[in-house]
Amino acid sequence: MRPEPLNLNIRGLGLSSTVGINELSLRMIQEGRPVHRLGLGQSPFPVPDPVVEALRLNASRKEYLPVRGLWELREAVADYHRRRNGLGASGDDVLIGPGSKELMFLLQLVYYGDLVIPTPAWVSYAPQAQIVGRRVCALPCRQSNDWRLEPSQLESLCREDPGRPRIVVLNYPGNPTGLTYTAAELETLARVARNYGLLLLSDEIYGELHHRGAHVSIARYYPEGTIVSSGLSKWCGAGGWRLGTFTFPQDLKWLADSMASVASETYTSTSAPIQYAAVSAFRGGSVIERYLWLARRILSALGESLQRRLEEANVQPPAPTGGFYLFPDFAAWRNRLETRGVFTSEDLARRLLEEVSVAVLPGAAFGRPPEELTIRIAYVDFDGARAMAALETMPPDWPVDEAFLSTYCGAMTRAIDLICTWLEKGT
Ligand code: PMP
Repeated sequence: MRPEPLNLNIRGLGLSSTVGINELSLRMIQEGRPVHRLGLGQSPFPVPDPVVEALRLNASRKEYLPVRGLWELREAVADYHRRRNGLGASGDDVLIGPGSKELMFLLQLVYYGDLVIPTPAWVSYAPQAQIVGRRVCALPCRQSNDWRLEPSQLESLCREDPGRPRIVVLNYPGNPTGLTYTAAELETLARVARNYGLLLLSDEIYGELHHRGAHVSIARYYPEGTIVSSGLSKWCGAGGWRLGTFTFPQDLKWLADSMASVASETYTSTSAPIQYAAVSAFRGGSVIERYLWLARRILSALGESLQRRLEEANVQPPAPTGGFYLFPDFAAWRNRLETRGVFTSEDLARRLLEEVSVAVLPGAAFGRPPEELTIRIAYVDFDGARAMAALETMPPDWPVDEAFLSTYCGAMTRAIDLICTWLEKGT
C-alpha cells in the first residue's frame, strides 16, 4: 500500500492533549459515566455581563474587519496594557487574532529561530514548533525551585551560540503550575534576554487571574524585545469566542507586518461581533473589576484548599499564585504506584480516569520526562456563575471558607479526595 502523503512534520502528531482528554471524558459522560473534568483548562466563570451585552448588540455585524483587527479594539488593548502593565503601546502595536494560540503559531511560522521553553510548559508551544519545523530547546525546571526558569539556565543556553535567533516563551501565572515570577526575577531574566537580543514571548493569558491581582509583566523590564500575549479566553471566561491579542514593541513592527500578511492569506480576520464585544472587555470598568475580584477570591481560596489536601496526601504541588492549575508530583508514592502498574504520568492519568473517573493531564504532555509522576489538575469543575453570585451577596471582607467551597465547589473537593483515597487505599 502507498504511504499516506502526509507532511513529515505532522507525522505522529495526534490531537492536542487537552483536546484529547476532553473528548475521552465526554465519551464517558455520553456512556452515562459521570467524570470529574479536571483535564481541560476552561474558565468556570461566565463571560461578564457587559461583554455579553456588547456581543448581543453587535450580533448583526457581518463585515470582514481589517486583518490586524478592529481599530477601536486595537486601541482598547493598547490602552489596557498602558494602564495595567505600564507599556508604552499604541493601537498600531496590537494584532488581534482568533485566539492567542493562532497568533503564536503565526509567530513561529514567520520568525526563523529556535523555540526555547522552560518545562513544564503549556502543551501547544512545542507541537507548533514541530509543525513549522523549528528546533525546540526545552529548559527543564525543578519543583524545588517552584518550577521557575533560572536566569543562569537561559544564560548558559545562549552562551553556547550567542548570535542564534531564539524565541523564549515565558508563561506566568503559568499553565500547568499556577505559579508566577516575582518582579525581581523577571528583571533578572529580562537582563539576560537583553544581553543576547532574545525575542521574548510573554504569555500573560492568566495575568488578570493572579490571585491577588498583582500581575507584573516582563515587558516593563525588556520593552524593546517582548511581545505580550493576552486574550479573552481565561480572565473573561470566553475561550470559545476565540479572540487573542499580541502587543509588539515598535522595533518589531516588521514581525507584526509579516504575521498580518500570513493572516491575510489564511484566516482573513477575526470574527466581527466578537471583536466589537472585546472592546468592552479591554476597556474594563467597575463591573469587570468586580467580576475579576470575585473570580480571584474564589480561585485563590479553592487553589489553597486543594493544595493543602494534596499536601496531606504527600503529593506536594507548590501553592498556586494565579490561574486555576495545580501541578503535583507523586514521586513519594513511586514504589507503591509501581506495584500497581503505574510507571509513567500517562499511566497515572489513565488510571485516575478509568478507576475513579477523574480526568487530569499527564506531566509528559507538558514536556516533562515520561517517568516523572506529575499531573496537571485544572480546578475548574464547578459552576462559576453560581459561586460568583453567592460570593456577591457576602460582605467584602468575608473570607471564602471551607463551607463555601464545599457548597459551591464541592465537585472539586470531592475529586481531589477521590485521588487521595485512590492513592492511599488502591482500588
Ligand atoms: N497559552 C496558555 C498558557 C494557555 O493555557 C492557553 C489556552 N489553554 C493559550 C495560550 C491559548 O489561548 P487562546 O488561544 O484561547 O487565546
